[in-house]
Amino acid sequence: MMAIKRHKTKVIKIGNCLIGGSHKIAIQSMAKVRTTDRSRVLGQIKELKEAGCQIVRLAVKDEADAVALKEIKKKSVLPLVADIHFNWRLAIKAIESGVDKIRLNPGNIYKKDEVANIARAAASAGIPIRVGANSGSLRDRRISGADSMVKSVMDYVRLLEKNKFYDIVLSLKASNIMDTVAAYRHVAKLCDYPLHLGVTATGAPYLGTIKSSIALGILLAEGIGDTIRVSLTDKPRQEIAAAASILESLGLRKFGPQIISCPTCGRCEVDLVKIVKELEKRLRTTNDERRTTGAAPTIAVMGCVVNGPGEAKEADLGIAFGKKDGLLFIKGKPVKKVKFDSCINVLLSQLNTRPYRIGRCALSGQGDPDV
Ligand code: SF4
Repeated sequence: MMAIKRHKTKVIKIGNCLIGGSHKIAIQSMAKVRTTDRSRVLGQIKELKEAGCQIVRLAVKDEADAVALKEIKKKSVLPLVADIHFNWRLAIKAIESGVDKIRLNPGNIYKKDEVANIARAAASAGIPIRVGANSGSLRDRRISGADSMVKSVMDYVRLLEKNKFYDIVLSLKASNIMDTVAAYRHVAKLCDYPLHLGVTATGAPYLGTIKSSIALGILLAEGIGDTIRVSLTDKPRQEIAAAASILESLGLRKFGPQIISCPTCGRCEVDLVKIVKELEKRLRTTNDERRTTGAAPTIAVMGCVVNGPGEAKEADLGIAFGKKDGLLFIKGKPVKKVKFDSCINVLLSQLNTRPYRIGRCALSGQGDPDV
C-alpha cells in the first residue's frame, strides 16, 4: 500500500500519550454518562481502553463534575480531557483536579482575561489546551462555516500565544463533510499545532460511520490529523471500532487481522457470507494467549477463480474457492486444497503457527494501541 506522508506537527503530551510529530494517530472518545457517576464513568473508560481508545474526554457541566474528575483521574486507565463550555472557572477546577488536557470552545469562552487565567493554570500544571471549534457554536456567522471555524480557532491561538502558551491542539468540527475538510485543510497550512479530527453530530452508527470515514479519510490520506474521534449516537466502544477501521484501512495503524473478502456474485459456489461471518466471530475470540509478535496479517477469502487467486496471493493468508474446495495461499504461494467445512480451522491454525500478531484486535472490539 502506498504510504501516507504526514504533515509535520508539534509533539504534544496528553498524560502518557504523545501526539503529533511522527507519533501514531491516537483514537479518542468520550464517556457518555454524567461525570459525577464515577463508577460508570470509570467502567466506560476501562471498556474504551480495552477497545483501543487512548484518550478519553469527560463533560464538565458544573462544579460537581469538575470535583468528580479528581477521583476519576486517580483510577483512570486513560488520560483525561475535561470538556469545558461557558464557564472558565470550571476549567480552573478541572485543572486542579489533575486532568491531562482541557478542551475549550472558542464560541463560548473567549474573554481575554478568562482565557489568560486558564492558560496560566494549564501552563503551571504542564497540560495542553485543545481549542475546539464546532460549527454549531460559532460566534461569527457572517462568514461561511469553514472560514468562520478557521478564524475562530486562529484568533484563539493568537490569544493563547500572547499569553506565552504554546501547548495547543486544534479541532474544527462541522456537521457536514465539506466544511470539516475545508477547515482542517486550511488550518493545517496556517500552523503546526497537532490536529484532532472529527465530524460533529454525525448521527446514528451507519450514516455516522460513513460520514466520518469520508471526511477523516480525505484528511488522513492527505497527511492531516494527529488524533481522531468518530462521533456516533451509540455506545462509546462502537466509536473506537469505527476509528480503528478507518486508520487500519489507510494503513496508518494495525490492530489485528484484516479480512479481505469479495462481495460474491453469481459465480460464487460456496456460502462465502457464512464463512466470513464465522471467521470474523472466531477472530473476535482471540485473546492474549494467542498473541504473537509480528505484523497484523491480511486474510483474503474469495469466492471464485476470477479475482480469488490474485487477491489470495497478495494477502498474507488466503483462500480462493472453486466448486467446493478452496486453494490455500500462504504468503503468495498456493499450498494445498482445503475443504469448505474445514477452511476456517485451517486459516486459524495457520494464524496460530505463524509469527502474526492476532490478539486483541479492533475487529474484536479489543484494539491494541501498541500494535
Ligand atoms: Fe464474484 Fe468471483 Fe469476484 Fe467473488 S471473486 S465477486 S465470486 S467474480
